[in-house]
Amino acid sequence: MGVTAIVGANWGDEGKGKITDHLAVTSDFVCRFQGGKNAGHTIINDYGKFALHLLPSGVFLQNVINVLGPGVALDIQAFVKERNELLSRGVPDPQIRISDRAQVVLPYHILFDLYEEERLGKRQFGSTKSGIAPFYSDKYRKIGIQVADLYDEKRLIERLEFALESKNILLSALYKKDTMTAEAIASELKPLADIIKPYVCDTLDLFYQALKDDKEILLEGQLGALRDPDYGIYPFSTSSSPTAGFASVGAGIPPYKINRIIAVTKAYSTCVGAGPFVSEIFDNEAHELRERGGDSGEYGATTGRPRRIGWFDVVATRYGCKVQGATEVELSLLDVLGYLDEIPICTHYDLDGERIDFFPVSAKIDRAKPVLKNFPGWKTKISHIRNFTDLPDNAKKYVDAIEELIEFPIKWISVGPRREEMINR
Ligand code: GDP
Ligand code: MG
Repeated sequence: MGVTAIVGANWGDEGKGKITDHLAVTSDFVCRFQGGKNAGHTIINDYGKFALHLLPSGVFLQNVINVLGPGVALDIQAFVKERNELLSRGVPDPQIRISDRAQVVLPYHILFDLYEEERLGKRQFGSTKSGIAPFYSDKYRKIGIQVADLYDEKRLIERLEFALESKNILLSALYKKDTMTAEAIASELKPLADIIKPYVCDTLDLFYQALKDDKEILLEGQLGALRDPDYGIYPFSTSSSPTAGFASVGAGIPPYKINRIIAVTKAYSTCVGAGPFVSEIFDNEAHELRERGGDSGEYGATTGRPRRIGWFDVVATRYGCKVQGATEVELSLLDVLGYLDEIPICTHYDLDGERIDFFPVSAKIDRAKPVLKNFPGWKTKISHIRNFTDLPDNAKKYVDAIEELIEFPIKWISVGPRREEMINR
């Protein structure tokens, strides 16, 4: 298949980790190309249940080389912790490579994330407080630290001092906190840099060679299209682009080599944190779906926060698939809906009394209301099913209706959280 991007068509948590783990079985590389440890990709396989934050979802397979590309926010402490957890739970030591151009999440990024949300109080964005927004701000302000800088002490101290000139003013004046020194940060980084040294390489060259050798490569996105800084629900977006388009940059693969883009969407909707969520449901209706959803309830894999719940949103998902440039779609968690007599789908939005089928800009979306249409439920378990034709008629109709409405082909249907619980249509 060549190079496949696996990306979210919604607000994140669509089940990207699950299908990445499923497809990794026959792949050579899995690469994370953006975001950092704010991700939570749940994987359930023979080793148990895992929530991967920073590591690519190929780490359970010895045949896979797992790459953290230059677009990633590398929190070394989180990386070490996550790798150790895998090893302690019996997973064989995975093959890992880290781009020497990736940038490092620094202690002050995490503190600034925390302090800023504290400062904002009720107006906060619902950050996972992993330092992601301050990290990417610094990267584009050109005061970030690249992995390769960690191995040049003089340069590291100079770069940190440069960054701290303004950081320390913010720390003391805006947040009323203690200031920091470059030396203290550098000595904290030193042992971490030593640990990751064996994994550090030029990943552009690694992929250049892999493509020459016709290797199978998976590019694993984090979050989803609606969190993209340009196309998403700005400012309730994330700080790096979770799109297949950016995968080329963040991984280091020529754009024309990405020949398959799998956009993952849930059979209903969930959204973590603040921001517009048009098809949201509340109270008992939401509570029941939240408890039945995911592998054991819809709670954030990184933060444990209850996810907001909604019906499947055609408007948002069609838009998400367009943003991703999906060549195919995975509809995930279809099994979860097996308890409902009738399943509503949000087919349109009502915007100021007008029925619309496009996803509105942030300035308008708060006024959008969902227009729902009910579909009959199938009222049975489907997790054991592996062929589309064996699904109950009403489940097939639900999938077909969504496919027609979103205008992108549904090639995969996930019917349970485990690696093998998948229908390839
Ligand atoms: P990601 O961030 O896109 O990788 O998704 P998450 O792992 O954060 O959230 C998806 C949740 O749904 C997790 O709890 C998964 O274990 C679970 N999951 C994934 N696919 C399926 C499925 O087909 N059925 C059910 N019941 N759970 C699923
Ligand atoms: Mg997640």
